[in-house]
Amino acid sequence: MRRFQEVFNRTSIMAPRRDARPFIDEEDSSCPFCLANKECLESIIDESWQEGELVARFVPNRFPATSKEGVKGLHDVIIDTEYHTKHPKDFTRVHWETLLLSIQKRWHQLMTRPEIEFIQVFKNYGTKAGASISHSHWQIIALEEIPYSMQQKYLVYHQGENCYLCQAQHRKDGILVWEDADIEVWVPSIPLFPYEVWFVPKQHRQHYGELSAWEIKTLGKLIKYLLEVYHQLNPQGDFNICMMSGDVRGKNPYHFYIQLVMRIGHIAGFEIATNCHILSIEPRTYAEEMKKILKGMYK
Ligand SMILES: [Zn+2]
Ligand SMILES: [Zn+2]
Repeated sequence: MRRFQEVFNRTSIMAPRRDARPFIDEEDSSCPFCLANKECLESIIDESWQEGELVARFVPNRFPATSKEGVKGLHDVIIDTEYHTKHPKDFTRVHWETLLLSIQKRWHQLMTRPEIEFIQVFKNYGTKAGASISHSHWQIIALEEIPYSMQQKYLVYHQGENCYLCQAQHRKDGILVWEDADIEVWVPSIPLFPYEVWFVPKQHRQHYGELSAWEIKTLGKLIKYLLEVYHQLNPQGDFNICMMSGDVRGKNPYHFYIQLVMRIGHIAGFEIATNCHILSIEPRTYAEEMKKILKGMYK
C-alpha cells in the first residue's frame, strides 16, 4: 500500500518552535547578527575573517527546523557580515570566495558525522524570499534522512549512466549567459521564478563538498556579478540562493549547481494547486538583458 506522501508527493518538516523566531527589519537595534549584540549568540561554531572584516560566523539556529522529536539533524545560521544593512552584492570578491570556502569547510565537518545523509545550504534575502531577519545571512540544514521530495528529484534526474547536466542536451535546452574556465551561468529553459539563473560546474560534481578551491573562487565572483545584475534589473528585488546537491553519501547521483532566483511576486493559488509557475517574462528576453548588463560591466 502506498503511503500518503507517495500518493500526494508531499514532504514537510514539523518544527513548531520556529513559530517563536523574531522578525527583525532594517531599523531594529536588537538584531542578534549585529556586532553590538554579539553576546546574544549562544555559541559560535566557527568564524572566518578577511582583512579585519567578518565574512562568516557559524552559529546554531536558535529556532531549528530539526529536533529530537521530528526530523533529526543540525541547523546552522551563517552571518556573512557584521553590518546590518550591507548588501551581499557589495561584498568584495575575496569576501565571497572566503565565505564560500568556509561554507565548504563546514560541509566537510558535517559530512564526518556518519548519520548525516543530506545537506541543504540556502540564503533567503528579503521578506519576499522568506527571511525573518533582514541582516544578511545563510542557513545550513543537515539531515539524517533525505527529504522524500529530493528522493523523487534524484529518481528522475539520473536515468541509467546519463547525467543530464553533463550531456549535450542540456546545452540545447538552456541559454548560456556567461562562461568561465570552470563554471557556466545558465538560464534554465523552464524557469520557475523571474530572472532565475543556475551556476553549473563544467566538471561533474555530486555535491558542494566535491568542488575545487578554483571552482569556488569562480563561483564567488560569478554570484557577486549576478547579484549586481539583479540590482540593476530591480533594486528592490529580494532573492534566494540554493545549493542544489546530491545526497552526501553518493547513493543518488546528481550534478551540483547553484540556483539564484529573484522574488518579486508571491506564490499564488495556481502555483500551489499545480506546481506550475506563471512567469511574466520570457527566459530568452531576460537572458539577453542579463548578457547586455554583464558585457557592459565586465568587458
Ligand atoms: Zn543586524
Ligand atoms: Zn554531471
